[in-house]
Amino acid sequence: MSIVTNKELLDRAKKGSYAVAAFNTNNLEYTQAILWAAAELQAPVIVEAAKSEVDYMDGHVFVAMISALAAKLSIPVGIHLDHGPSYEEAVRCLAYGFKSVMYDGSALPLEENIANTRKVVEAAHACGVSVEGEVGVIGQAEDSPEGKKNDLIGIANPDECERFVKETRVDCFAAAIGNAHGLYKRKPALRFDILAEIERRTGIPLVLHGGTGIPEEDLRKAITMGVSKINFSTVMRKGGIETLTATLHANPGELDLMKLLAPSRDKMIEIAKQHIIMCMSDHKV
Ligand SMILES: [Zn+2]
Repeated sequence: MSIVTNKELLDRAKKGSYAVAAFNTNNLEYTQAILWAAAELQAPVIVEAAKSEVDYMDGHVFVAMISALAAKLSIPVGIHLDHGPSYEEAVRCLAYGFKSVMYDGSALPLEENIANTRKVVEAAHACGVSVEGEVGVIGQAEDSPEGKKNDLIGIANPDECERFVKETRVDCFAAAIGNAHGLYKRKPALRFDILAEIERRTGIPLVLHGGTGIPEEDLRKAITMGVSKINFSTVMRKGGIETLTATLHANPGELDLMKLLAPSRDKMIEIAKQHIIMCMSDHKV
């Protein structure tokens, strides 16, 4: 089907009380796994890449690859920049043809985050592209493409979220509510009280980062409370790499890269399907 904006996907998800699963990618097999899993379940899906991943693949190649794969499928697909570090990077992705960009100014003082996000919103909206912002630093449980380990689990301030949304006019935003990127060392304790307050004050679709390892019942509860996009990165990389390692050990001397990578792709299809079902977005096309 078509490549659509995250605004279109998330507004529908919020109304329908499900979340769109967003998966990071940085190569062909990984991207095929995401799109084929979503197509099998007839689910809308977002393919996203952090700056390091965009640079690794080349932004034009990334957009062309997703567009070509999506053209053969009957599902709506989003192409999104995850954790855009600057105005310049967001604008570069507009030129590549991304349909959604995130600007992450959460580490800056609120005024600066608002001013920078607003600039990104003005440029992106002029091109018909959606913007995701972030308030309250979402920590890193490990080094990952989204950033370096900092062990910080932040909690967003609902007053700041309200002001941020009003002054930036973002289409959706990620708020830190006890979630983190990478692998959680202990069961994450999501602050549902803060989530409820943020939803009440802002009313726009909310994004939950660090979906890997959050118990299914907590994900579903968050979705019923207004979370409309959930990011999964670590769980796919972990499954894909573990399968690749096992395949390499089982096939010493194998020189056909397709034979080595196909089992990883199958594993990632299985993982993506599990997480799409957790998001309750299957059969929501
Ligand atoms: Zn993130």
